[in-house]
Parts: sequence; structure tokens; C-alpha cells
Amino acid sequence: MIVRDVQDPLERLVKLLTMLPGIGERTARRLAYHVLRAPAEYPEDLAHALLEIRGKLCECSSCGNISEQEVCPICSDTSRDPRKLCVVASIQDLQVIERSGSFRGRYFVLHGYVAPLDGLNPEDLDTDHLLSLVRENGVREVIIATNPTVEGEATAGYLAQRLRDEGVKITRIASGIQHGGEIEYSDPVSVARAIDRRDEY
Ligand SMILES: [Zn+2]
Repeated sequence: MIVRDVQDPLERLVKLLTMLPGIGERTARRLAYHVLRAPAEYPEDLAHALLEIRGKLCECSSCGNISEQEVCPICSDTSRDPRKLCVVASIQDLQVIERSGSFRGRYFVLHGYVAPLDGLNPEDLDTDHLLSLVRENGVREVIIATNPTVEGEATAGYLAQRLRDEGVKITRIASGIQHGGEIEYSDPVSVARAIDRRDEY
């Protein structure tokens, strides 16, 4: 990795931090100075935690959620209805829907969107895995819970097209989450309402 060639330790940390989503150089410097001035055990704990999440956590082999086991607690929960599958773009969105308590089926995490202008093409999404889940679990309804944004709608359209011949009911969460709102930033009540008021796609 190019970062290893950066000799100055502070610059190396700044460079590594700017590789995280949403962190620009100014924020990276602020965080780096903060770490410098923090108690000695803080950087040690931070480094340890960073190594640990890669060592102990993995992606659920079924839904793509983050998990300590090969299959996550949601997919292993027999009280949930495997015939209802909620497709989300990210793990954050899954967690927001879980917190709303409005859904008792299973999930599929896309880990992305269709956004051709950003170089994200439909082929980049693992829709083959989605289709095999639909068949294996005898799914009756696929709820497409992508954001009501341009990318979210494009993704929903693509998924609906891929699922058309599967004989499943395809629904879309109601768009009134919040004005221009994204699932990740919505409150649990609004998310629950958007799921309850889903419409056939
Ligand atoms: Zn899972």
C-alpha cells in the first residue's frame, strides 16, 4: 500500500484516516492530533479494536449482515418469516429497520447501489445470490427498501426487473420516509410507517 511509503508517522495516519468514508483532510488532521494528545492507552485500544473487528466479525453468508458467526442471528432466528425478504442497500439501513421493530422477515444486503455515473453498474450487485435466496427460502414477497433517491429508484427498478420471472410479490417501501430522507437518517416511527405502507411495485 502506498501509505507505507509515507515516512512521517503523522502524515501516514492522516492519509489512512482520509481513506475512510466522509473524512476529509481537515477532519483527519483533527482526529490525528486528538489521538496524539489522548491518554497512552487510547491508541492501543483503538488499534486493538480495529484489528479485532477484522478478526472476529464477518459477513453473514446468507444475508450479508455483519456477524460473529457464519450465519447471523437474524437469519438463524426461526421465529422470523423466511418467506418475506427485505432488500436493503447497506448494513446501516438494515439496522435502522431492525430498530423500528416493524419487520419480522429476513434481509438481503446489497452493499451498494446502481449508479452508472459513479461507475456502479448493475453487474456489481450480487443479484445472483439474491435470486438463489428467493428460490431456496420459498420467498413470497420481496420488499425493496432502497432509499427514495435517484440511485435508490434505479436500483429498485433493476431489482424488480431481475425478480420479475420469479413469481414473487415485489413491493416498494412508501416514499414518504421524510422529505428527501434516507433510511439511515430516519427515525424508527417513519421507517415503520414506510414499511407498513409499502405498495406493490
Ligand atoms: Zn444473515
